[in-house]
Amino acid sequence: MPTKLPVKLENDPQKRLWEKHQSIEQKSVNSYKEGLCYNCFKNKAVSATLADICQECFDKRGTETILAMVVEKFYGMCFFCGKYKFPIVQYNFRLCMHCHEGVRKILTAYNKAGGFYGHDPFWKSMKKKQGKTWARQLRQGTL
Ligand SMILES: [Zn+2]
Ligand SMILES: [Zn+2]
Repeated sequence: MPTKLPVKLENDPQKRLWEKHQSIEQKSVNSYKEGLCYNCFKNKAVSATLADICQECFDKRGTETILAMVVEKFYGMCFFCGKYKFPIVQYNFRLCMHCHEGVRKILTAYNKAGGFYGHDPFWKSMKKKQGKTWARQLRQGTL
């Protein structure tokens, strides 16, 4: 028999939030750490994560499993479609291992390309146009 989940809660707001989520079927996890995956909506072993998502991908998925909205970003890369969009919102939700893997692949490609400045289509075109000195030029304000 699984015992109670070893949840580490540091303060009262965290505790209240956890209890609130556990009281809602779609947001809760059982003692096997199984719950609904935000991305595929299957009941699987899940773990919570933070991810940036565009409006389009957001509209395709239900909001039932979202734990919290973290921050609204003006612009950024969506962790689900890998495209650059306005606006991007970061959410806290649970994903199954399979969907974690999908996000990981997109992030790996992103990091490999050198993060934001290497991967973003705008900065990529900037580099192409300005050559290697683009970063220095940008700092000096001569672009
Ligand atoms: Zn999933
Ligand atoms: Zn997207």
